Amino acid sequence: MRKSCLTGRGHNNFQLLCVALISSPCSRIARSGGGTALMSLPIFLIGARGCGKTTVGEALSQALGYAFTDTDHHLQLSTQRSVTEIVAAEGWEGFRARETESLKAVTAPKTVIATGGGMILAEENCRFMQEQGQVIWLSASPEVLAERLESEPEAAQRPTLTGRPIADEMSDVLRERAHLYQAAAHHQVNAMQSPECVVEEILLSLSLARAS
Ligand code: ADP
Ligand code: MG
Repeated sequence: MRKSCLTGRGHNNFQLLCVALISSPCSRIARSGGGTALMSLPIFLIGARGCGKTTVGEALSQALGYAFTDTDHHLQLSTQRSVTEIVAAEGWEGFRARETESLKAVTAPKTVIATGGGMILAEENCRFMQEQGQVIWLSASPEVLAERLESEPEAAQRPTLTGRPIADEMSDVLRERAHLYQAAAHHQVNAMQSPECVVEEILLSLSLARAS
């Protein structure tokens, strides 16, 4: 890991993080005006499958000294079934209802929460996340999402929605959902850079929001 990145353990002082941001090698990171104390609100990561919610969420939680949780993971543990199995048994409607329950169950202070790709389909979920914490949209192009998903071995956890090629499917999904992700998010972050840089951009967004 690069020395100037912020994802290592022990860097849970927010002002230290902001100082490190100033010398960040990530080209998109601008100079931060400095840090105010980090509030302990939960941070919700939203975005399509493959945008990096789990990967970035784990790194972000380490950088902040927060807990990390994943609504899909909670759902599997609480039902002892995979997403595919839940959808097969209860349909997407049943899955969505269980997803809302998981969102509420895992929400806690000082926690980074990776959400399922369709979490924003229910207005109730969007309102809940906006009221409870900070909502970050990890945005990426359909091509990048498809490339990442195609190289993923966990096919059972990623049922295709239409049975069509993954790149076409991701284009459709984003066309339908981009405005929902945008409306639900407090901050939009470019997820097509290294996970370290995505984490830094999130920290910068949060620091600017809290300093203003
Ligand atoms: P999500 O939880 O949003 O579905 P994941 O975190 O599981 O996405 O990431 C999906 C795949 O993409 C994984 O193989 C992961 O290693 C890879 N990935 C995630 N974020 C990035 C990134 N910023 N750059 C390159 N690959 C990434
Ligand atoms: Mg995930």
